[in-house]
Amino acid sequence: MQAIHFPGQQAIELVTRPWPVPAAGEVLLRVQRTALCGSDSKLWHRGSEHVPGHEIFGVVDQPGHALHGVRCCVFMPVFCGHCACCSRGDTHLCLTESVLLGWNRPGGYAQALAVPEQCLMPVPDDIDDDLAPLLLDTIGTAAHGLRTVLPLVPPDQSDVLILGAGPVGLGALVAAQELGWRRIWMADPRPSRLALAQTLGAQLHPVGDLSRRFHLVVESSGAHAARNQGLTIVWPRGVVLLLGENDAPWTIEETKPIRRKDFYMVRSFYFPKSDFAHNLKLLRRRASDYRRLVDQRFTLDQFADAFPRFSAGELVKPLLAPGG
Ligand SMILES: [Zn+2]
Ligand SMILES: [Zn+2]
Repeated sequence: MQAIHFPGQQAIELVTRPWPVPAAGEVLLRVQRTALCGSDSKLWHRGSEHVPGHEIFGVVDQPGHALHGVRCCVFMPVFCGHCACCSRGDTHLCLTESVLLGWNRPGGYAQALAVPEQCLMPVPDDIDDDLAPLLLDTIGTAAHGLRTVLPLVPPDQSDVLILGAGPVGLGALVAAQELGWRRIWMADPRPSRLALAQTLGAQLHPVGDLSRRFHLVVESSGAHAARNQGLTIVWPRGVVLLLGENDAPWTIEETKPIRRKDFYMVRSFYFPKSDFAHNLKLLRRRASDYRRLVDQRFTLDQFADAFPRFSAGELVKPLLAPGG
């Protein structure tokens, strides 16, 4: 089959790999769409031994299996199903498994991959192929983080600031509206992203502006400056929700506005498998808005052109469609 290989130093190769052979408890999934994710830039820079791509939607091709022919999204973390976290439903926080599809085993920038049965999430027929991958990071990660902090930030009395208008930030905007928050601002240095945020109903907040406080700050950029801004301008008893990621060490200077304040700093990762039904509802209610985020669809041989443009911020949520 054809697959994408990141050898490192921002090189991209279209390679031929053996057709995946599913192990016991796994199925073959033919990839229909894999959404590009900003976090893959890490692998693009440093190289990856596995096929990258973790926002995967495909069709099960496993004759005789109960899900043969069924359209499915792929839950990224492999989980044990019986540790303390899995037992309470936190399948994304498994204590014994740490393998992520597209990171520590082959992912979806390919024609097909082997997927553990437990990671299959069937997608109903009314969901468009081009929107299905958004059920993962864009909707799932954003909505799970917001549901986690909802009890701490009453929507009817709270001002929300979202830092970073990437797919997760824009996904958080839509999810926040659906969860009841009405006064939502966004900050991003890119005018095209701000225009999109405005179209989706956000008010604009200047990057780096400390003149106004917010009850909930959703940090989706992973930039240290944005994180520190969030800690500074969150209201006392407010919440800074960290959705962005950054491998570089983060230094917090304990200034007076940060030290002399009660506030919550909440990190949230991905989402539990049980959220998927809620994510489907969210997608159905706001399908036309989520569709605005999908700005290009391309094939495997166009990947080497599309990924750098995506990484440079020219595209919001492009999709690889290996079959064209
Ligand atoms: Zn992702
Ligand atoms: Zn577990």
